[in-house]
Amino acid sequence: MTSPISPRVVPEESELTAPYWASAQLGRVALQRCLDCGLVWHPPAPSCPAGAAHRIEWFESSGRGRLYSYTVVEHAVHPAVIGALPYLLALVALDEGPRLICNLVSADPSNLSADLPVTLSAGPAAGGLTLPVARLDESTT
Ligand SMILES: [Zn+2]
Repeated sequence: MTSPISPRVVPEESELTAPYWASAQLGRVALQRCLDCGLVWHPPAPSCPAGAAHRIEWFESSGRGRLYSYTVVEHAVHPAVIGALPYLLALVALDEGPRLICNLVSADPSNLSADLPVTLSAGPAAGGLTLPVARLDESTT
C-alpha cells in the first residue's frame, strides 16, 4: 500500500532557519547581519560568508527593494503550483543588500522592467502557506 503524496510544499525548518520562517509566515523577511564586519546576507547561514565570524544577529528587513529580475512561470515543476499557473516569480534586491526569490503579485508582466521599486508583504503561497510576496509600489502601477 502506498501513502498519498501531499501536494503541499512545506519548508523544512531547522534551528538555523527557524527565525526566517517565523517572520516569513507574517510576510516579513528576517535577515542575518555579522556583528564583526556588518555584512548582511540571505539565505540563513551559520557564520558570516565574508569571514566565518559567528557573532551574528537577526533583524527584520524593511521589506523594500527593487525588482532585480523576474519570470512568468507557465509550467508546473511541482503539483502544489498547478492551480497557481501562470504566476510571476521575482528576484528582489532588498534595500539591505541581499536578494530574495518570491512571488510577485498584482502585476502585469507586460509592464515590468528591472529596477522597479517593490514592497514585500504577506501573501498566499503554494500549499496554503503565507509567505512574503512582492508588490510593485503604488507609484509605479
Ligand atoms: Zn563578517
